[in-house]
Amino acid sequence: MIDLIDVSFQYENGTEALHNVNLRVNQGEFAFVVGSSGAGKTSILKLLLREAVATSGQVIVNGFNLNKLKNRQIPKFRRSIGVVFQDFRLIPDMTVYDNVAFAMRVTDQSNKSIRQRVPEVLEMMNLAHKAKQHPYELSGGEQQRVSLARALINHPPLIIADEPTGNIDPEFSYEIVEMLQQINKQAGTTILMVTHEHEMVKYFGGRTINIEEGRVVFDDYIIGGANESE
Ligand code: ADP
Repeated sequence: MIDLIDVSFQYENGTEALHNVNLRVNQGEFAFVVGSSGAGKTSILKLLLREAVATSGQVIVNGFNLNKLKNRQIPKFRRSIGVVFQDFRLIPDMTVYDNVAFAMRVTDQSNKSIRQRVPEVLEMMNLAHKAKQHPYELSGGEQQRVSLARALINHPPLIIADEPTGNIDPEFSYEIVEMLQQINKQAGTTILMVTHEHEMVKYFGGRTINIEEGRVVFDDYIIGGANESE
């Protein structure tokens, strides 16, 4: 769950990137965040991942009050979020299997649970047949699916996706959003997806939060066109 209460955020040079933002995303919701370049989307993500701290107001994520979070609690907090980046950030010399397993190994999980869980998420992302390949042998869409598998491997209550379709051919972009929707439905994972692709948001519909000039200017459900006849 995400709760931003009257949040303002100023960079050191004085730029006020966010003004009095109020935003709540409940457990199990799927929300798009849209806005022009410079609107404040990245600044919100920085606050949500505790890469920056609000200048005023409160930021609560997955039950952690980020205004009061101690540095030693940051790793535990970060593990409660699966993050998906525009540029995938896979480890080039590891196989698909190992890229995903790595996220479990770093948290000292048993080999038995790794052997059970990794094939399960690869299957869910339609990647079982690619397990032994390396990222460079995959298309952009497939690489992003590996990154989704890695994001969800430890059952985080929240996945934050920052322009996840930005480096993917348009015909495969929709598939990434469908996968995120599937994770949302099957596992009840809250999904926050930042995108500048308005056409895609209109196609899928759903909760859409529009940030402009550091303010929430629209936050409502839009009806998608996914079911419209051609
Ligand atoms: P978006 O992700 O929507 O493009 P940002 O959150 O990156 O927007 O930027 C919001 C505002 O903060 C913009 O005016 C931008 O120029 C400014 N900004 C972003 N990063 C910094 C920084 N490191 N220092 C100062 N100002 C910044």
